[in-house]
Amino acid sequence: MSTDIKEIFELTGELKPKDMELIDKAYDFAKKAHEGQKRNSGEPYFVHVFETAKTLAKLGMDADTISAGLMHDVLEDTEISEAEMEKEFGKNIVFLVNGVTKLGTLKYRGHERHVESLRKFFVAMANDLRVVIIKFTDRLHNLSTLEHVREDKQKRIAMESIEVYAPLANRLGMGKLKGEIEDAAFPYAYPKEYAQTEEIIKETKNTYEKNLEEIRTELEKEFKKQKIEYTEIDYRVKHKFSLYKKLLRYDMDLSKINDIVALRIIVKNLEDCYRILGIVHSIWKPVPGRIKDYIALPKTNGYRSLHTTIFTGDGGVAEVQIKTEEMHAEAAYGIAAHFAYKERSNKKAKDDKSKFEWIEQLKDLKDVAGNSEKFIEHLKMDFFNDRIFIFTPIGDVVDLPDGSSSIDFAYAIHSDIGEHISAAKINGKMSPLHTPLKNRDIVEIITKDTAHPSSKWLEYTKTTMAKKHIKSYLDKNSLLNKLKSFGRS
Ligand code: MN
Repeated sequence: MSTDIKEIFELTGELKPKDMELIDKAYDFAKKAHEGQKRNSGEPYFVHVFETAKTLAKLGMDADTISAGLMHDVLEDTEISEAEMEKEFGKNIVFLVNGVTKLGTLKYRGHERHVESLRKFFVAMANDLRVVIIKFTDRLHNLSTLEHVREDKQKRIAMESIEVYAPLANRLGMGKLKGEIEDAAFPYAYPKEYAQTEEIIKETKNTYEKNLEEIRTELEKEFKKQKIEYTEIDYRVKHKFSLYKKLLRYDMDLSKINDIVALRIIVKNLEDCYRILGIVHSIWKPVPGRIKDYIALPKTNGYRSLHTTIFTGDGGVAEVQIKTEEMHAEAAYGIAAHFAYKERSNKKAKDDKSKFEWIEQLKDLKDVAGNSEKFIEHLKMDFFNDRIFIFTPIGDVVDLPDGSSSIDFAYAIHSDIGEHISAAKINGKMSPLHTPLKNRDIVEIITKDTAHPSSKWLEYTKTTMAKKHIKSYLDKNSLLNKLKSFGRS
């Protein structure tokens, strides 16, 4: 296997000379440190860290991260000391390498192990996301060489990848990486189901592709006629593991699944997305209820695109996805794409702050939840549950976990509003505060200076943030009341 440093530089595109020097130095350092070491596959150990760094370069990560990727196993697996690395590369890079090493050492078995692993990820995420991204790419390469690992270990690594790594990558908007991690782990985690899914894809893929090929040809003609510019029309085959999960949801009924293969239209600007949607619908009738505007209402992980399912005219249906180049890159790289942009412009950096605000909230979570069971409970509630989008009367969107109430909504807007809720209007109608909100409800909070949280509110809320504020209010006040009653007696 080739480990030519040129392969990395081809993926990064043009770099500043000092960044190139840094990567070059890390490359030599890691190569020397791992000299003579072999992987289970019999390959030189360096191949592993080189492939990890290549994926990081592909994701558009900065030079520090790529260098840390090259050296991510040096402190753990070689004689080199932290002090030596720090002398050569400085504190920042040592911090990244150390973060990756710590993330990998787990002491528990079974379920507890996953809990610990998740917990470590979240702590690392709150400190420096780049550590987590290095760990993802490290895991991806380990999965690709899993056949050389002992069988019991194979299963454990595969399960952990599916239960911990993939949901996290997804939450960070790294859809492509998530799909790759799941598909690499799938055969080891669920061998029988994997074989079954493979079979289904083999049987149906050709028919679907032929279908989409015809649609593509017709669209290209139409775009030419209407002088519409587009970057690319292609199709993607659904990732195997996500197809399997969808099949499970539909009782393994393949006829209910329309997106095994989907047509993808990439365009230059946002207006063209909607124009093209119009053209598609003027040629093929859309399936009612299947038009999804994830541009106006992005998914919680940031995914944006227009989706529609059309009747193809021969009794079949097909899914069409329309997005801009930027949306396409983001869907693949998620938060990593934002890192890459951040380097280039400050405006972008401001944008991702609001988009990934929940990462900031992780810091709160660390303080609220003491023991690990509780921590995981909160985590699942806040980050992995289905989300709903609730609107303010002026159209701002607040993203909340399913089952949230107006109280959660109020606290999500501002703790001051939460602290003085007197009533709530849901879609224009006065409603009890404990009413669970539904996706796309419009909620107006009516506040009063004299209104305050009550202990009942703890039962009515889902989000950690609301609960934390209510608790602290109640604690403060029970203390005040005690003091007052002391004063009276
Ligand atoms: Mn490694």
